[in-house]
Amino acid sequence: MNLVLMGLPGAGKGTQAEKIVEEYGIPHISTGDMFRAAIKEGTELGLKAKSFMDKGELVPDEVTIGIVRERLSKDDCQKGFLLDGFPRTVAQAEALENMLQELNKSIDYVLHIDVDKEILMERLTGRRICKECGATYHLVFNPPTNEGICDRCGGELYQRADDNEETVQNRLDVNIKQMQPLLDFYQEKGYLRTINGQQEIDKVFADVNELLGGLK
Ligand code: AMP
Repeated sequence: MNLVLMGLPGAGKGTQAEKIVEEYGIPHISTGDMFRAAIKEGTELGLKAKSFMDKGELVPDEVTIGIVRERLSKDDCQKGFLLDGFPRTVAQAEALENMLQELNKSIDYVLHIDVDKEILMERLTGRRICKECGATYHLVFNPPTNEGICDRCGGELYQRADDNEETVQNRLDVNIKQMQPLLDFYQEKGYLRTINGQQEIDKVFADVNELLGGLK
């Protein structure tokens, strides 16, 4: 089961990724997580990636493609994998096609968790975080019992600076521009499957399962 997961920030990609890897026992390969781990460990890769990540830029393709190639050749990917956050460019998508061909594999599905931009704006700008314990809430979808106060520890809730309307709008626009060519690429290849992400989490996962059931 060789999968690529795509979706804009706030679409629920992380939540679905967790459920998919649990249900199907395939490794979750997130390039963002791999870069963050490398930074934490202070490796050469981490040093390379950090300067780009700090500026909010993409890590160069050759670096990113290299770590994915290495990761996909590991034993635990024999039964499949879930790629998350990769590919981010058409060059990466083409490189992925080539490396999978070398490994005698191919993508089964590219799952696109689709949510309208207006709904993503609401989801992302409504997020509130506890200053003390880091618990996250949402003004509409997961409000605290008492306004502005953490249910768990009583700490004060705040809005992250990059969750404000203008920054979120900008972040979404940048991501839409980045993602569209990839959706087109995979549509053309016939791998793309669009999942309605504007449903309850369990219903979204039920749709994913229905699709993946055929691959089991
Ligand atoms: P993420 O956690 O997926 O949002 O990734 C965090 C950061 O890691 C991104 O903003 C990029 O700087 C870098 N990154 C993650 N995946 C890729 C990728 N496929 N290509 C280039 N840079 C990436």
